[in-house]
Amino acid sequence: MRRKIVILGAGESGTGSAVLAMKHGFDVFVSDKGQVKEKYREILDSYKIRWEEGNHTEKEIMAADEVIKSPGIKEDAPIVVTLHEKGIPVISEIEFAGRYAKGIKICITGSNGKTTVTNLIYHILNKAGKKVAIAGNVGNSFAMAVAEGPYDYYVIELSSFQLDGMYKFRAEIAILMNITPDHLDRYGYKLQNYIDSKFRITQNQTKSDFLIYWADDPIIKAELSKKHYGMTLLPFSDTSKENMTAYIENRELIIDYQPKTYLMTIHELALKGRHNIYNSMAAAIAGKVLNIRKDVIRESLADFQGVEHRLEPVIKVSGINFINDSKATNVNSAWYALECMETDIVWIVGGIDKGNDYSELFPLVKQKVRAIVCLGKDNRKIIEAFKDKVPTIVETGSMEEAVRSSYYLAKRDYTVLLSPACASFDLFSNYEDRGRQFKAAVRNL
Ligand code: ADP
Repeated sequence: MRRKIVILGAGESGTGSAVLAMKHGFDVFVSDKGQVKEKYREILDSYKIRWEEGNHTEKEIMAADEVIKSPGIKEDAPIVVTLHEKGIPVISEIEFAGRYAKGIKICITGSNGKTTVTNLIYHILNKAGKKVAIAGNVGNSFAMAVAEGPYDYYVIELSSFQLDGMYKFRAEIAILMNITPDHLDRYGYKLQNYIDSKFRITQNQTKSDFLIYWADDPIIKAELSKKHYGMTLLPFSDTSKENMTAYIENRELIIDYQPKTYLMTIHELALKGRHNIYNSMAAAIAGKVLNIRKDVIRESLADFQGVEHRLEPVIKVSGINFINDSKATNVNSAWYALECMETDIVWIVGGIDKGNDYSELFPLVKQKVRAIVCLGKDNRKIIEAFKDKVPTIVETGSMEEAVRSSYYLAKRDYTVLLSPACASFDLFSNYEDRGRQFKAAVRNL
């Protein structure tokens, strides 16, 4: 009998998995408790894949040999609990697709910087003329890329939720950018659970594999010292040189990897700000490990266009600079945004708080922020945290209102920075929607 694969959730990863499973001859059934988007219905139908929406038919699902679960479905969802009780293996799309991917997998995780680094590496490999796919959390599922392949390289952004369903998957190159508290609501408010989840990116790695990581991250450092890791460690830092694979000397980026190379000056990097030096270092090391020519790496890091909603310049209105950093959905990313601003700031902040501790922002806010515009349904925590740190705090309930208030509060040469440190779901459908509404409101001023 054909082995049966059931897929829970008919979104990007579910649909990709269904197509890949179909191509490999499985009996495939897709079940989504909500509504399936038109785009995915069409794909499923075109492959004659059976699917349902608005319901999880238990009889069908419990007949599976293996279940692929969308990272959006929580572990404590009743259907997942029942599957575990019956001992039916539940895996992630990445785990499944990893079984069929023949190329080299470069996997990027961390609390912040994943999308930027994923795109940077993709850009380098593309420029080098390689057959490369970009996949994972960035948009296109890894499973669909594998189904459409073969590719020689897969650059994959992995969230902690995706890593949670991975067991045998092995990344030839793993990149761990940083670990700061995020999504703690999904990890029982235990930081160690979230750390363990991020470190799954290293599981199954052997001596011939690589872990590229930020050496100055206190959590990563502490975790790596707990036991011996077998893969080749390639750390980077902008504060020390010793044993670093990438470091900064006299404002030059140096890669110390077979052989030691002076790559370029920091000034030449397309992406500005300290966090982007880290992102560029991580991508450059990956390029070197993959034997990409130095001039290709340098050119790629110099002409990279940036990613929408990440410190994205919008326009200047009356000498006021507007920056869209809607993707800053946690305190740490907002910290880097505030840190790299060189002018006075009107800061638009707020949304859904994921257990934020704002205290690490206090020095930067006192130094640079002249007014805070809260944009969220419940702003009490922000007001409480910052009321004695900035002279003006206002509350707004829509993007239009927030942009207009910021415009009135800002003076010539100020920056209005949307860097919310919170999730967007109270007032927007997602961070992209929030960023686009911001840009539209600014253009309407
Ligand atoms: P992710 O995919 O991990 O969410 P992004 O590249 O989309 O990361 O960036 C998310 C936010 O974090 C943006 O606001 C960006 O400016 C900020 N950021 C980017 N890289 C880093 C980094 N290395 N460290 C801290 N913050 C970063």
